[in-house]
Amino acid sequence: MIALMLVVVFCLTLTAAPAQAKLILPGAADQPFAPWMPQSATTGITLDVPILMYHQVGSYPGRYNVPRQTFETQMAYLAQNGYTSVSIDQIAAALRGQGGLPPCPVAITFDDGYTSAYSNALPILQQYGLRATFYVVAGYVGMSQRFMNWDQVRDLAARGMWIGSHSYNHPYLARSPRASLPRQIVDSKAKLESELGVPVTTFAYPFGSYSLAVMHAVTEAGYVAGVWTGYGPHQAEDRIYKMPRYAIYNWVSQRRFEAQLPRHGPNGSGMCPSAPPPQ
Ligand SMILES: [Zn+2]
Repeated sequence: MIALMLVVVFCLTLTAAPAQAKLILPGAADQPFAPWMPQSATTGITLDVPILMYHQVGSYPGRYNVPRQTFETQMAYLAQNGYTSVSIDQIAAALRGQGGLPPCPVAITFDDGYTSAYSNALPILQQYGLRATFYVVAGYVGMSQRFMNWDQVRDLAARGMWIGSHSYNHPYLARSPRASLPRQIVDSKAKLESELGVPVTTFAYPFGSYSLAVMHAVTEAGYVAGVWTGYGPHQAEDRIYKMPRYAIYNWVSQRRFEAQLPRHGPNGSGMCPSAPPPQ
């Protein structure tokens, strides 16, 4: 009898295991990425704002380096076809039901704080009346010619660009000791805000490396949203700390670039000017 009870208990444990495993696997497609958020807080709002992820702009080797002319063609397309650049904060507010978005929004982001983004991308953004979010690694600023210095990052902010945190020194956060998270997530925000005098409210996970503990720390630090390197067009409130982006590599053709952009505004609220007439 005791043996039978032990078998039953063992079987129940086995049956319960997948539910527990599901909770700790943030990569599962159907799992909310912020399970600590009370369900009552969710709005159920979903959006399809393309969030473009760039790194360097210029004639450098490597897939993360988009040639200047390619970048200009992409920005010209956005400007000439009625897209309006928005911040990640604006997307987060819209998901929370706290604000609207303009027709045909697009979010342009740059990771790492490379000097080439300042020297080559900023003039083109300004030429076409576009704004971008620059995810800066606080500890890399001024470290070498490759990365912007504080004056350049301040200039970005002064010219209407948004600044987000990309950690203090770019570790794989999911593999980092928990004790190191405050420096990467809290101190990087404080350093950027004190140097720049502007609020820094969104976070980009270095290497797209995240975990529930990391996302929780980002939430606790006061960030309103997080972006990563995952590919995808959709945003939802329960995934607000893990918004996917479109990586724009140097091999992305203009046709592919345009194909990634939606033909409608948020939730189908009107056609973008570039959209062909319905069939
Ligand atoms: Zn990075």
